[in-house]
Amino acid sequence: MTYRAPVADIAFTLKHVAGVGRALDERLYGDLTEDLVDAVLAEAGKFASDVIAPLNRVGDQHGTPLRGGAVTMPPGWRQAYRDWAAAGWNGLAAPADWGGQGLPHALNAACIEMWNSASMAFALGPFLTMAGVEALAGHGSDELKRTYLPRLVSGEWMGTMQLTEPQAGSDVGALRTRAERAGDGTYRISGQKIFITYGEHDLTDNIVHFVLARLPDAPAGTKGISLFVVPKFLVNADGTLGARNDARCHSIEHKLGIHGSPTCTMVYGDAGGAVGYLLGEENRGMNCMFTMMNNARLAVGVQGVGIAERALQQALAYARERRQGRAAGAEAPGVSGPAPIIAHADVRRMLMTMRALTRAARTICYATAVATDRAHRADDKAERHRAHERASLLTPVAKAFSTDIGVEVASLGVQVHGGMGYIEETGAAQHLRDARIAPIYEGTNGIQAIDLVTRKLPLSDGAAVKAYLDELRETVVAVAAVNDPALGHTAARLAEAVECLDRVTAWLLGRLEKEPDAALAGATPYLKLFATTAGGVMLADEALAAIRTSGPDPAGRMAIARFFAENLVVQASGLERTVVEGADSVAEADAALA
Ligand SMILES: Cc1cc2nc3c(=O)[nH]c(=O)nc-3n(C[C@H](O)[C@H](O)[C@H](O)COP(=O)(O)OP(=O)(O)OC[C@H]3O[C@@H](n4cnc5c(N)ncnc54)[C@H](O)[C@@H]3O)c2cc1C
Repeated sequence: MTYRAPVADIAFTLKHVAGVGRALDERLYGDLTEDLVDAVLAEAGKFASDVIAPLNRVGDQHGTPLRGGAVTMPPGWRQAYRDWAAAGWNGLAAPADWGGQGLPHALNAACIEMWNSASMAFALGPFLTMAGVEALAGHGSDELKRTYLPRLVSGEWMGTMQLTEPQAGSDVGALRTRAERAGDGTYRISGQKIFITYGEHDLTDNIVHFVLARLPDAPAGTKGISLFVVPKFLVNADGTLGARNDARCHSIEHKLGIHGSPTCTMVYGDAGGAVGYLLGEENRGMNCMFTMMNNARLAVGVQGVGIAERALQQALAYARERRQGRAAGAEAPGVSGPAPIIAHADVRRMLMTMRALTRAARTICYATAVATDRAHRADDKAERHRAHERASLLTPVAKAFSTDIGVEVASLGVQVHGGMGYIEETGAAQHLRDARIAPIYEGTNGIQAIDLVTRKLPLSDGAAVKAYLDELRETVVAVAAVNDPALGHTAARLAEAVECLDRVTAWLLGRLEKEPDAALAGATPYLKLFATTAGGVMLADEALAAIRTSGPDPAGRMAIARFFAENLVVQASGLERTVVEGADSVAEADAALA
């Protein structure tokens, strides 16, 4: 089953729920017009559907074999990547000074969704390059920028992001890769990195590695980490490729999914040390890496939306075709024949859950991207600060919720297919295998929940989260005022959930210092409560926007908002209990886990 980019839905959410429409009116994006936004989305949708999506299966089956130190990418991928880069997609949101188009991150996020629906494994490499561009543009010296940025922005070269080592996964501060000062302003890097995405491949002639390493006199932990640019091939003064650097791919991992994405063990310094160039300041590498990671975390969240959309489209098509049993209340089989399975209430429930979760995650991701744009572009300093805090608050929610629902939706997609879902030839199983990595990499979802509770809730003494809750309340009041019977109990369920979220937020903030374990035990259910409430409110807002603007399918949008509120948002009170009352049983887990 192929993928058709849902361009109209994406455009509507982006403009009317996430805030791109308001930003255009306020000229946050300069001369950018709505027509141009629509045109970019339409072109991206075409490229994703027509060029990338047909390569998804081939990537899964071919994998990325390593022979003699070289990785061969799946058939067709090199040409598709080059066409994609030549069309300017890699530099969509990159700075115009370095050859990018300087378009909104929010627009790029929408495109990233489509690339990922088409093929998660294909889209993964490019967005790591985009994250590298951000880090280099934000922290690089003029010379580093001149040498690397134009070719990373154009996509002529790709980037990688290298934190993980065998003993340093979630705990990045434990990394041991060494960097020695070479005396000429460069550094020599030696050590090993594992699980490095696109660490070696044949899509581009050079690969620019962004590697975290430690100087000999560095303090312990994350305060002693520096970030280095380590190219696969050194670059001569005239810009041509020079000697091969002392950095190589030792092996490729065999993994559950994203088979088209090479996951590499990288070895540095077999021949005396790879040449590395410091990015930012010594021992302040985590600062630069956070620039990369925030960008990549949102993009991974968007991966969850992308894979969910693809799984949904496939399940919907199958449910309309597959006939089995008779629908409740219909004539006996033989009279009217077996019904398409979409006629069965339980299958409809699965499909509605898939659609509602996908749309809710999309609104959260796009709203996060718009906040990021405001944080960079707003004229007013106070507004930039508020937007930065909003983006910081929402990023872990966008990453964790969207990737969790990516797995849930892909799993429901298999279920809708019945036995055929478990058989590889339908492709439903590939979506589930591919989706499973996203809650793990770019900071596991457990780490995202801890980040939300321990670092993001306390922002501005709790004022950042309070301002967000106030905005949610305002929308709920507007939903109640519409009073349309098609929205059922939506306003009431949302109002209850916002109050739950408010109470639990206060409870957690009150415990962070005195009982940190209790707060940490509830972090994951709290993130789910946060995302479910926010997603429910945004879906209702989307329904109101469709009514207000005579936008596409207001009846469908109201039905989705209502389903989400009446079937999923109602979990809020249970999640409140889980956080507040469940912490003690987690603390007592020793006996049960003995
Ligand atoms: C396919 C793939 C691609 C990847 N690509 C890259 C890449 O390009 N670059 C890169 O640098 N890395 C990459 N990674 C590594 C990835 O980011 C790590 O696997 C991830 O950060 C988790 O680290 P870990 O595997 O060591 O798990 P661990 O850190 O050992 O975690 C195991 C479990 O313990 C939990 N846990 C750990 N510490 C805590 C804590 N303090 N509190 C609560 N729970 C905790 C985790 O949430 C998790 O559930 C990739 C991994 C894979 C599988």
